[in-house]
Formats: sequence, C-alpha cells, structure tokens
Amino acid sequence: MKHVSNDYLKELITEYRPYTTKGEVMADLPCLDNQNQNDLGIAMIDMDNQIYKAGSTDLSFSLQSVSKIISLMVALQDLGEEKVFQTVGMEPMGDFFNTISHLESNDVHRPYNPMVNAGAIAICSLIKGDSVQERFERIMSMLKTITNNENISYDNSVYQAEKRKGDRNRALAYYMSSTGAVALDPEEALDLYFRINSISFTVEDLARVGLFIANGGKLLNDNEQLISDKHLQTLQAIMMTSGMYNESGNFAVKVGFPCKSGVSGSIVSVVPGRYGIGVIGPAINEKGNSVGGGKILERLSSDLNLNLFSHS
Ligand code: GLU
Repeated sequence: MKHVSNDYLKELITEYRPYTTKGEVMADLPCLDNQNQNDLGIAMIDMDNQIYKAGSTDLSFSLQSVSKIISLMVALQDLGEEKVFQTVGMEPMGDFFNTISHLESNDVHRPYNPMVNAGAIAICSLIKGDSVQERFERIMSMLKTITNNENISYDNSVYQAEKRKGDRNRALAYYMSSTGAVALDPEEALDLYFRINSISFTVEDLARVGLFIANGGKLLNDNEQLISDKHLQTLQAIMMTSGMYNESGNFAVKVGFPCKSGVSGSIVSVVPGRYGIGVIGPAINEKGNSVGGGKILERLSSDLNLNLFSHS
C-alpha cells in the first residue's frame, strides 16, 4: 500500500492536471469565471495533525455549496435532528442542485435534502441568532475554531455577485414561503445563504473541516465536543448520499467516503478516524464537480485503501 507524503501528492497533481482540460470553470457567476482552469491542489491531514499538501495550496476560493455542510452542522447543533428534518428531507434527489420542480412535485413541498439549494436556504432560516449578521458571525466563529484560522473571512465581490445573480435562489425561497411548507423569511434566509457561499477558504481550511468531522466533532488534542458525534454521523450519511450533486452515487461507489463539492471546484472529504482532505480544481464537469479533484480522490481511495466499505 502507498503512504501519504508531499511527494506522493505532487505526483498525483502532475498525473491528473491534464484532466482539468476536460472540465470548465463555472461561467454563471461572474466572480468564478476568472478562476484558472488549470489549478489543482490538495491538502490532507491525519489524526497526528500531520499535514501533506501539493499543487495550488495558496489559492483562495469561495466555499459555494461546501457551505451547505457547515450550515447543516450548525442547525443540527442548534435545533436537533427532529426539528431540522421536519423542515427538510434526507433523501437524495438525482436532479440538478437548484431545481425548483421537486418542491412542487412532492406532496409536502419540502426540499429533498439539505445539500440542494432549496434545502440549504431552508436550513439557513433555522440557524439561531437575532439578525442575519449574528447568525453569520456564529457560523464564522465556528469555522475559525474548526480551521484554527482566525483570518477566515468572506469575499464581498462574490457575495455581491451571488445577490446579483441570485434570482433562481430567490425563486426557491419565495416558493417555499408561498406554500408555507417551510416557515421562513425569504430575504433573511437568502442573505445568510449568499454570505456563506462567499466565504473564502484554502485547501488546508477544507482539510481541517474534514478532519474535525473525521474526529467526531472534536479538535485534535482537545476533549471538548463542539458538535455531537451523532449529528456528524447524520451529516456524513447525507454527504455520502447527496454531497456530490447528482453524481453522489458515482462517488459513493468509486471513492467510498463522504465528500461535499462546490461549483468553485472545491471538495471536502472525510475519512472517519483517519483523514480530512481538501481539494480544489476549478474545472468542473456538467454535474458541478471538479474533474481533476474527483480523479485524485478516486486514486487516493484505492492507493491508500480508504473506501469505507472495503474489508481488506
Ligand atoms: N452559489 C451558487 C448557488 O447558490 C452555486 C452553489 C454551488 O452549487 O456550489 O446557486
């Protein structure tokens, strides 16, 4: 079996960089279309806090849909599973992440799960705080603790672009409000949603989030339970079934550990009890997932025997 090292990760970056030409940088959001198609980077942290990195490790990118696991984590901690899953479902959807039709066609008009846009907007309406600003600060403070990075902030130009181009998300929020299936203030929920999509990360920040989940909701060398392990089990099950848009089944089969992607080309991965992994590769496929990033995760899974369903 292979062992992780900076050199090994460097080899993977070199081998899979050509795959970045098989995808495209997201053009719909003006703030993303200036990303470099050829960037590819990875960070991996193990339970001894050893960090391994290669490629575009200094690159800063917006969280986009990776923020959906953060908001779900905070909502579960704030309200518990019963209340959260009265508001959104937990079933995979198999359709595009920003689809509206699923809200109309299912009996209860609720979002299928917290990883689709409608679900994440509904989740944003649940997070505790007297104002959007206070809710956002609670999320930021949690992220700063988890990543051990006081400098985490959000990118105002991305936030402005999210708002400017946010009509589809507005449609989802107002539709949910109109049916009454989700009790929410659409503008407040959207504002928080747009802000958390705009948070800037590096691959190391992503890997730290993955590691925190892999370590059952505690920081390394600290016994404080920041998020309940039960909530993180739920989160990982939902990442596994719905974290990679409508390619989640493919990732479950070929990678075999929980991942969540965003259209900036980022992916956060959790190998329970072993690793937190962050990758960035802005060239995404038609499903919204980083092409080079997905290939690297597949390879890591087989080289390092990381598939959770493997018995060897
Ligand atoms: N920010 C975009 C949206 O809300 C994209 C999110 C994503 O899927 O990464 O529609």
